[in-house]
Amino acid sequence: MKRVLLLKFGELFLKGKNRHDFINLLKTNILKKLRDFQCHLVETQGRLVLSDYIDDFEGEIIEKLQTVFGLIGVAPAVEFDTDLQEIEKKVCEVDVEGVKTFKIETKRADKSFAMTSMELDKHLGEVVLDKNPNLKVDLYNPNLIIYVEVRTNNKTYVYTNLLPCAGGLPLGSAGKAMLLLSGGIDSPVAGYMMAKRGLKLEAVHFHSYPYTSVQAKEKVVELAKLLTKYVDEIKLHIVSFTEIQEEIHKNCDADYMITIMRRFMMRIAKRLCDKNEAGAIVTGESLGQVASQTMQSMTVTNYVVDIPVFRPVVAFDKEEIMSIARKIGTYETSILPYEDCCTVFLPKNPVIRPTIKRAEKLEQKLDVEALIEKALASEEILIIKN
Ligand code: ATP
Ligand code: MG
Repeated sequence: MKRVLLLKFGELFLKGKNRHDFINLLKTNILKKLRDFQCHLVETQGRLVLSDYIDDFEGEIIEKLQTVFGLIGVAPAVEFDTDLQEIEKKVCEVDVEGVKTFKIETKRADKSFAMTSMELDKHLGEVVLDKNPNLKVDLYNPNLIIYVEVRTNNKTYVYTNLLPCAGGLPLGSAGKAMLLLSGGIDSPVAGYMMAKRGLKLEAVHFHSYPYTSVQAKEKVVELAKLLTKYVDEIKLHIVSFTEIQEEIHKNCDADYMITIMRRFMMRIAKRLCDKNEAGAIVTGESLGQVASQTMQSMTVTNYVVDIPVFRPVVAFDKEEIMSIARKIGTYETSILPYEDCCTVFLPKNPVIRPTIKRAEKLEQKLDVEALIEKALASEEILIIKN
């Protein structure tokens, strides 16, 4: 008998060659996350089994596994050679102190095993009742579920505690995207959500030094650092936006200030995507949250780029975004009171329904290409690791 961690992953997408690639990537990501721990990871049809780790580190290892995208659950389990008597013994060893009702939930992946899942449920339920006559079976709302998995590697696993993981798809399985990372609440959440769908992240932050402070920039570095808990590493591009803002402020109508700023952010993000092999841009915009996040504003800002712009929080209320921020641990940092470049030169009445035509007209007063080049020349790159 051996104590192991049984890891569950979503099986929906697992067909043919994809399945193989998906699981290999998942395994690589798990081992990367556990690089500081001694352990052994094997696959057995539909599950991964982590073993040979030092028991004292089990809690820490579980916490790390819960941040691996693609895993849906982790269960501390006992593993032993499949044998009915042994299974009976193991289910009887489960701690039932304080338990009044229970049920057995069997998965028989090994179809050569003599009993079906349902027969095993019934049989093992009776075995447990024989030993603990005070217990009752409750199939709908039991205090305790004893899970029994008879797997094809001729091993059986018994466990009672299935802990939830982050879900989603393995990091990197969907490619890479460039996150527009401000110091606010929404963009770190947006990054997390897209990473959960399998996208590796790089991030770009625009600062307007000296209008924005060094602390504002440090806050963004800290946010990126917090995200690496999930994505392992982020290449953070820090780009000066000062001159662009000054030029827009000097030459363009105030109500279009933010619209045109956003178009510059998109253009620069696109250049960085091209240079770094990222295929999409991610922002923390939410429909109608502010004037620059209306449908028409999104049309005008999207117009300057020809790759997808993912806005995973577009349909979320602020409260919902905040609750994810708390869950992933970015909230406390996001609410630190440092100004963002978007708050510099902020117009009183930003346009709510901008048009492409007018934005283009106003931009004729600017040397767009030269401004982009200059901003890109200011780029500072930080590789932020977990
Ligand atoms: P957030 O909470 O993410 O800052 P917000 O509600 O404050 O969002 P805006 O300030 O309008 O909204 O920004 C909308 C989106 O534009 C942000 O979610 C982010 O993706 C991007 N963005 C804004 N400011 C910056 C910046 N200084 N650098 C990089 N991206 C930015
Ligand atoms: Mg903001």
